[in-house]
Amino acid sequence: MNEYDSALVRSILAPHGFQSCASAQDAEVILVNTCAVRENAYRKIYGLLDKLRPLKKQKKSFVVGVLGCMAQNLKEELLAHPVVSLVVGPDNYRSLPGLIEQSITSGDCGIDADLSEYETYSDIAPARVEGVNAWVAIMRGCDNFCTFCVVPYTRGRERSRSVADILDEVRAAAAAGFPQVTLLGQNVNSYSDRDGSFADLIVRVADVPAIRRVRFTSPHPKDFPDDLLEAIAAHPNICKHVHLPLQAGNDRILGLMGRNYTRREFVGLAERIRDRIPGVSLTTDIIVGFPTETEGEFLETFKVMENLAFDSAFIFKYSERKGTIASRKFADDVPPDSKTDRIVRLFDLQKRISSDKNRARIGSLEAVLIEGPAEKKPDHQVGKSDGGTTVIFPATPEAPGSFARVRIREASSTTLYGEAM
Ligand code: SF4
Repeated sequence: MNEYDSALVRSILAPHGFQSCASAQDAEVILVNTCAVRENAYRKIYGLLDKLRPLKKQKKSFVVGVLGCMAQNLKEELLAHPVVSLVVGPDNYRSLPGLIEQSITSGDCGIDADLSEYETYSDIAPARVEGVNAWVAIMRGCDNFCTFCVVPYTRGRERSRSVADILDEVRAAAAAGFPQVTLLGQNVNSYSDRDGSFADLIVRVADVPAIRRVRFTSPHPKDFPDDLLEAIAAHPNICKHVHLPLQAGNDRILGLMGRNYTRREFVGLAERIRDRIPGVSLTTDIIVGFPTETEGEFLETFKVMENLAFDSAFIFKYSERKGTIASRKFADDVPPDSKTDRIVRLFDLQKRISSDKNRARIGSLEAVLIEGPAEKKPDHQVGKSDGGTTVIFPATPEAPGSFARVRIREASSTTLYGEAM
C-alpha cells in the first residue's frame, strides 16, 4: 500500500515542479513513507532519520517529511525529531505541495494528519515505477479493529472506490504495459460499491484485455463468499493464490484479537478454498506471543499450521502498537524469550513444510511471469509462478513482462530453480 501511496505522492508533486533525483545528497526534499504495523518498521525509520542529521546540518533549505502510518500515529513525537520538518498522514497527501513550499520558504514545520472518511485519491493516476506489477488500491482504511492492529487509527474507516474508477486505472496500467495488477486493500474482500462486490470487481478486472494476471491482498477470513472462490477458480488469469491470515490457532486468543472467526471456521474455510480451487497456493500471517498466550494455546497454533500445511507464512512476534485496543486492555506479558522460542519453532515447522511442498514440484512445468535478471545470478532471470513462488532459471531472450514455461529441477523452502522450455 505504501508503494502505491508513494506513486500517488509522485503524481501530486509532479505538476508543482518536483522531480525524483538519484541520491539523498542531491535532494532538496526527502519524503519517507512509513509503516506502523511493527516495531521493526519504527526502528528503521528512526535509524534513517538519524542518518540524515549530517545532511540537515550541511544544507540550508532541506525538507525532510515523514508520511504514512507512523506520521498519523506519532505526529508530534516525529515533529520533535531534529531533522523532521513535515508530518503528513495517509489521507492528507494533497496538502504536500503547499506544506513543502511553506517549509522551504519560511523554514516552518508543518503537520497535516487528519483522517478522512472520504479520501480515496480516485482522481489521481499514480506515477508508477517500471515493473511487471501495478498495485491498484481499491479501498482505503479498515473497520475491523482487530485489537493488535493500528491500521484503523492510521488509515481511518473503510471506504471503497467505484468500480468505474478502478477499471479506468486497470485499463491505464494495461495500456502502460503492466501485465499484472494486484488489487489492494486492508480488507480487500469486504470491498463494496453500488456496482458490485469484490467478486464482481475481480471478474471485471480479469476481463480487461492485456491483463494477464490478477492478484489481491489481503483478504479477511470472515469475508469469503463462495462466489469469490468460484470467480478465482473460473478465471485462468486470476492467480490461484489466496493469502489467508490465521494470526492464531486458539479460540480464546482469536477472541482477544477480535478476529471474528474460530479455529474451526478458519480450517473449514481453508479446506473449502482448497476444494474449490485445485492447486491453490495458501499462505498466511501468524502472530506469536499475543498477551496472555500460554504454551498450550501456542501449540494449538502450531497444530493448525502443521495440519493445514500453508505454502508459506509470515510469522511475527507480537509487538504492542500505541493506540490499539490491545495496548489499552492487555499487558504485553509474554516474556521475550518465550516469544523467540515460539517464533523459532514456527519458522522451523514452516521451513520444513515449504521445502517439502516445493520439492514436490520438481519435474513440473510452471508458467512464470518474468520480472527481470536474478539479483545474485545476472545470467539468470527471476519471476513468479501463478501461486506466487519465486522461480529462477537461465536467462531467456524474453523480456520482463513475458511468460516463460519453466521445468522445475531444484527447490528450496523459498525458491524454485529450473530451465525454460
Ligand atoms: S483486518 Fe487487517 S487491517 Fe483491519 S484491523 Fe484487522 S489486521 Fe488490521
